[in-house]
Amino acid sequence: MKRVAIIGAGLSGLVLAHRLKSCARVALFEKSGGVGGRMATRHAGSFHFDHGAQYFFVKTVEFREFLQPFLGSNAVSRWDADFAELDQGATVSQRRWDETFPHYVAVPGMNHLAKCLAANLDVCLQTPVAKIEANARGWKLLSETNEPLGTYDWVVSTVPPAQAARLLPSCFSHVDSLSKTKMVGCYALMLGMRKPLKTPWQAALVRQADISWVSVNHSKPGRTEDYSLVAHATNRWSEAHIEEAIEDVKDHLTRELSQILGCNVSTAEYRMVHRWRYANIERQNGPSMYLDEGSSLAACGDWCIQGRVEAAFTSANRLSVELKPLIQTISQMS
Ligand SMILES: Cc1cc2nc3c(=O)[nH]c(=O)nc-3n(C[C@H](O)[C@H](O)[C@H](O)COP(=O)(O)OP(=O)(O)OC[C@H]3O[C@@H](n4cnc5c(N)ncnc54)[C@H](O)[C@@H]3O)c2cc1C
Repeated sequence: MKRVAIIGAGLSGLVLAHRLKSCARVALFEKSGGVGGRMATRHAGSFHFDHGAQYFFVKTVEFREFLQPFLGSNAVSRWDADFAELDQGATVSQRRWDETFPHYVAVPGMNHLAKCLAANLDVCLQTPVAKIEANARGWKLLSETNEPLGTYDWVVSTVPPAQAARLLPSCFSHVDSLSKTKMVGCYALMLGMRKPLKTPWQAALVRQADISWVSVNHSKPGRTEDYSLVAHATNRWSEAHIEEAIEDVKDHLTRELSQILGCNVSTAEYRMVHRWRYANIERQNGPSMYLDEGSSLAACGDWCIQGRVEAAFTSANRLSVELKPLIQTISQMS
């Protein structure tokens, strides 16, 4: 069997690994201490926060089929929140999400789907891939401390495009396209409170503020009861302040949220900010994944299509369809 290295254990890396595991020896390398990437959940005592992806849609047949076992076991559930649009202190619209346009979440945290997917895979955590070098047997991966991470017939990157462009060898024919693809940042403010706030909604889109989204995180299915709020800054404000000291960002977003909610939230028991440097990307018109048969290198991820969970699945799934026959052909020839 051919050896395939996948860099990144977010949804796209995990989906790709699942699709290839029957025809290749797949190793996943993940720089952080857990799987899931931007489908992330933070635990702080009894408070839990989905500080990256909030929910996802399931629009394609392929994604629905892939999720079927997880929907069946309730590892993925519908989140029927009361949703509001807020504009300068006023609620301009309100409705309940329901089955007509279902919003899904992983249960009990957004990272749980990734944890389920990773269960039977070879995932090396806390292992950032820093270098990819050619040797006589294929591509040799090296860690930040120059430790060898093995040699592979194929290497697939699922990391953000700017990082992939730096990491993948220059013979990869799509390096230029990757380096031109720009993702934007987003700050997530997380608040844990012993005394719940009384809002008539659990999810809100905010207009004309530096915050664009607020969710009552523990209202999602299967969460603990401890009151937790997640607020996302707009991409515009986040990009303009992407290098700012995290404490200053926290104070600004806390003031902004206090104004939106009409109450002082600076006294929350837990208050933390996470900086997502590569959070989101607008809809793209290019290929849904990048494959270079000549160099045996490839790249995929949500950023090929749009900054959405389903886009991460679709990009990885399409790459697996193209890659499988190549891996199998090479196996038969060798
Ligand atoms: C704040 C925020 C809100 C969002 N809200 C929504 C939403 O409501 N609905 C929705 O559908 N989508 C949302 N998204 C987008 C969604 O999270 C992504 O589309 C999806 O999770 C992308 O998956 P991925 O596998 O392509 O990338 P990622 O999840 O980014 O995975 C890439 C992985 O590569 C790892 N990595 C990076 N460099 C290296 C390296 N050198 N070596 C090893 N590993 C490396 C990273 O640690 C990461 O785990 C949101 C994202 C953010 C940040």
